Amino acid sequence: MIKVNSHNLYIRVALSIAMIAIVVSIVSSMLSYFSGFKEKKNTNYQLVQQLARTTEKTAAIAAYINDKELSQEIINGLLRNDLVQGASLEGDANAKGEIELFIANGTTNKNKEAVIVKLVHPFLDDTYIGELAIYPNDNFIKQQAQAALIKEFILMLIQSIVIAFFVSLVVHRWLTKPIQDLTDSFAKINPSEPETFTKLTYKQGKRDEISRLTRGINALMHELHLTISNEQALRKKTQELEAKFRLIFEQASAGICLLNDKNIITTSNPAFKRYFSVFSENQLSNVYFTDLVNNADELQSLLLAIRDNKKPSQATLDIECSLGDRTVWFHCLFARLTDQRNTQRGQQQVPLVEVILHDITERTERELKTRFEADHDPLTGLLNRRAGEKRLTKTLRECINNNSHLVVMMIDLDKFKPINDTYGHEAGDKVLIETAHRFKTLFHQKNDMCIRLGGDEFIVARQLNKVDKKEIQKHATALLNELQQKVSISSTQACAVGASIGIAIAPYDGTELHELMHNGDNTLYHVKETGRGRVAFYDDIKN
Ligand code: GH3
Ligand code: MG
Repeated sequence: MIKVNSHNLYIRVALSIAMIAIVVSIVSSMLSYFSGFKEKKNTNYQLVQQLARTTEKTAAIAAYINDKELSQEIINGLLRNDLVQGASLEGDANAKGEIELFIANGTTNKNKEAVIVKLVHPFLDDTYIGELAIYPNDNFIKQQAQAALIKEFILMLIQSIVIAFFVSLVVHRWLTKPIQDLTDSFAKINPSEPETFTKLTYKQGKRDEISRLTRGINALMHELHLTISNEQALRKKTQELEAKFRLIFEQASAGICLLNDKNIITTSNPAFKRYFSVFSENQLSNVYFTDLVNNADELQSLLLAIRDNKKPSQATLDIECSLGDRTVWFHCLFARLTDQRNTQRGQQQVPLVEVILHDITERTERELKTRFEADHDPLTGLLNRRAGEKRLTKTLRECINNNSHLVVMMIDLDKFKPINDTYGHEAGDKVLIETAHRFKTLFHQKNDMCIRLGGDEFIVARQLNKVDKKEIQKHATALLNELQQKVSISSTQACAVGASIGIAIAPYDGTELHELMHNGDNTLYHVKETGRGRVAFYDDIKN
């Protein structure tokens, strides 16, 4: 807030004017004194000369008749005049060279400037008979000049003070008072309260500078009022919106986070933090979002695509996360966020990505379970016929495309039925479960497939880049041996089954699954018919 002490200003103006007036009075009085003193001196000198001329005739007679009394009277008469400081009358020297007449009175210093009048013979004009000297009174002249100076100085001083007083009144009336009024009304304005932006009033004049200044300030305040009012309204609106969005953000049941250009989580809401509560707040604030996700490759390519302005700004993806000992699934909506203001300013920036996560673990687990149940044999957990054939078809296609091989072993347990008959169906189930376990133990490589076609029939398949029949034979025999090992069916009982294996290899024994399986089957039955309990290749029996 601006506060001008206009009272001080007014006093300062008045004092300044008075000071200037006093200085001007002193200087002008001094000038007038010096010029007046000289003038006065000249005037007085002229008066003394006039006095000398009026006395000249009488003094000439006194000198002629050599009358000392008369001379004394003349000198005394002259000295009665204030202008005369001293006077002397001197006659001429006689024949002997003696001066018979000399009368002097007052201060008659020969060195001083004096009015000298030569006394002329009353009858002979060209004969001088003496000299009258009159010395002007310099002190008197000086005193007169000083008195005049003081009088003039006092007059000028009074005049100056009066002028200063009236000038300061005028200044106060026309300048400091309006400024004070303006300042007072200006002081009532509070920049943070637009309603205090009232118009400043100035009534003195309509066209003077203060009036123009007032109008200018009023126009400025009007604009300022509008701007601040708009700004405040906007801020209020923004704050309300912000509060709403904050509420949504804070209380949303879905997890929300923002990813920066490096996919680092910069902001996250409480729901997000709850989802990932195995991480501390600090760990979460600097973590790459992709590091939290098991299907990170899929996520990386989606994030790349979403930041590409030419592609849609939204996409969804189900992500899988390992949180502690749990696997959790989230359905995520990814949205590209572009700062409109930066775009308008022409600034290029990598857009942020907003992620909204919904926990779909329960649903996914249900789906996975359903899918697993649909694809797997409930007793052994191996792929069932339908899913197995589907996988085999796909793998066979890949093998043919990339010139690799698919080894298909058709397996049927030997004399399994009697197990059921002897020990019961439950014991038969245990044998089937253990058999499946042994398949999985020996065929655990990536892309190995263990399928239960039904009953005691199985397929074990493996993808190979190079076919080595001996190696396959070795592996199949190892399997056979393993299967022949006893199976515990109760705490006291164990039993054993054998198996027959028929092997068909793609693409040599078929490029279509049904053909391959058919040939494998034929080989298996060949083994069954020829004594069971061994391995045979289709290649060996086909002829
Ligand atoms: P072979 O040596 O000729 O193969 O004769 P096998 O006794 O093994 O009998 P076969 O393969 O012809 O028949 C399989 C038997 O397996 C028939 C059925 O009783 C039995 N079986 C089929 N499914 C199940 C099952 O889920 N559990 C049990 N315990 N037995 C089953
Ligand atoms: Mg059998």
